[in-house]
Amino acid sequence: MAENEKLDCLRKLQDVLQEKFTLEQQVETLPRELRKEEAVLRSMEKDFSDLRTLAEETADEVKSLRIRYDDATQLRTSYEKQMEFLSTQREYEALSKQLEDARANEETLLKQRNSKTKEADKLAKDVEAKQAEVEAQKAKVDEERAKVDSELSGINEKIAALDAQCLSIKGSSISNELYEKFSNIVRKKDGTGIVPVHGQVCMGCDRVLPMQFVIDLRLKQEKNEIDYCPYCSRILWYEPLDPETEKSYIFEQLESKGAGDSKAASSHDSQQDSDSYDESMGMDGGFEDF
Ligand SMILES: [Zn+2]
Repeated sequence: MAENEKLDCLRKLQDVLQEKFTLEQQVETLPRELRKEEAVLRSMEKDFSDLRTLAEETADEVKSLRIRYDDATQLRTSYEKQMEFLSTQREYEALSKQLEDARANEETLLKQRNSKTKEADKLAKDVEAKQAEVEAQKAKVDEERAKVDSELSGINEKIAALDAQCLSIKGSSISNELYEKFSNIVRKKDGTGIVPVHGQVCMGCDRVLPMQFVIDLRLKQEKNEIDYCPYCSRILWYEPLDPETEKSYIFEQLESKGAGDSKAASSHDSQQDSDSYDESMGMDGGFEDF
């Protein structure tokens, strides 16, 4: 059988494309961990920002309570001073009442100021701790990003080299259109876009091909042409086996498909099988157009 240059190129291309697609998958999956850590960082930054706002508001309340407490202290002191200069019982009673209220108010404000100050101190510490956590997470993300970037650039360099290798294998023997189509098949068929035919069986999908199809395939192969499996869309090449092994591929497959003895027995008869050739091609709905 004459060498089919196209098939030879496609087989070589398949090896390189498989390697390339594996790397492309890595490009997809590699940054996953980084994306997770980035999401954690974003959530921590949001919490930190909320906490800082609360701490600032609480600190403002402390300031305001301090001023109000100082005012209350001043008021109480001034009432106490006025007590020394009273002349009537009535004035004394009125001022005593005011002083009592002022003292109560001062005491309440003192309690509020102390409690709010405690709260503010705790929040300030929480803010500090949270800030340290955010910075640690940020450092983690930066480190992970640097690692991913460097790995990605290494992988992308390899992909570019494989692309160049593909182009050089492709040369002028494979058209751009066939190259695109074949790449898609390899990608969609888990790395196997070109498979041998053993006997009458496609080694990609294990289905029995019509005898006339196989005869035509062999003729095409001689003429440096290619064809696709009508069932799984992979590119096919006929691989000659020793006659006994080859027969087993036809018979075993036909029997396992329950095609019956009559068809199996006649499968060596190309003329007879060719009658059903077009029909069986058309009957299969599984062909994908790449
Ligand atoms: Zn197939």
